[in-house]
Amino acid sequence: MSGAASPGLPWLQAPLRELLATQRGHAVLLAGPPGIGQFELALALAQAWLCEHPDAAARPCGGCASCTLVQARTHPDLLVLLPEALQEELGWAAAETESEGKAKAAKAKPSKEIKVEALRRAVEFAQQTSSRGVAKVVLVHPAERMNAISANTLLKTLEEPPGQARFVLSTEAVDALLPTIRSRCQLQRLAPPSEAQAREWLQAQGLAGAEVLLAAAGQLPLAARQLAQQGLDAAAWQQLPARLAGGEVAALAGWSVPLAVETLQKVCHDALCVTVGAQPRYFPAAAFKGLRAGLPALTAWGAELRRVARHEEHAWNAGLMLESLVAQARRALHSAE
Ligand SMILES: [Zn+2]
Repeated sequence: MSGAASPGLPWLQAPLRELLATQRGHAVLLAGPPGIGQFELALALAQAWLCEHPDAAARPCGGCASCTLVQARTHPDLLVLLPEALQEELGWAAAETESEGKAKAAKAKPSKEIKVEALRRAVEFAQQTSSRGVAKVVLVHPAERMNAISANTLLKTLEEPPGQARFVLSTEAVDALLPTIRSRCQLQRLAPPSEAQAREWLQAQGLAGAEVLLAAAGQLPLAARQLAQQGLDAAAWQQLPARLAGGEVAALAGWSVPLAVETLQKVCHDALCVTVGAQPRYFPAAAFKGLRAGLPALTAWGAELRRVARHEEHAWNAGLMLESLVAQARRALHSAE
């Protein structure tokens, strides 16, 4: 298989081979933790299904017109459904209807849901004749972002798929899907890569401090690359607990509130570990040297961060919010002095 036709992530080669060898029905469900490349695998599978010259193992050739169109993200027989909030991140802006475009322009936050209109479009798409005569493929990522109405819209088509239609759904929360959706798909579970595999891949992306970034992202390689893309480097990460303890608001300058809250939850988690004599998970232990935090204050801080995380969707004044978050962090990290 040529490089261009592969998902590009070494730990996904084996599951792709397995899927192509064992695939029975019209629908596949990829399930695994976030940050390991579910979307990339779903796309590779779609390319294999649409390829005009697959090899004996059903792998895509990487060079035919269909493969080229998938890679250019313009294949007429491939429909990709993503929440608005992910479209830009994955470089896949969906064709909008006029009313959706207006709705989007009217509100500040892109939706995190895959809406029922998108599923209706998918059902109609699946029933059309294939433009290139091979298949019609609908990709839904992440499937748990369909609400019950959206999922039910898809269900009928999953039950009785039109002749050339195939579906690939991916999920980070397989238990959150309707059982009726799960039961109509062939389930493929994905395991995270080994630490060594993830580290080598990050190093090959030219990222310095791969080990630190991987720990920062809870050992999920794509999440680690995303942190780097958001401007975080290994050195800044290691200094973060001390800078927060010093009350330096600049440590979070330019961060989004959700990213700041998620990161403070990691600081809080690790400060708790260090306080009870356990190994921290996201930061090197040295990052907490000299800090004296008390358990009750850390526990209260963790509860407060969870509360803020639940209300992340509010239109915060980001600057004020970051200031108040840093003040909380400083108090908690000095609470045993
Ligand atoms: Zn091909």
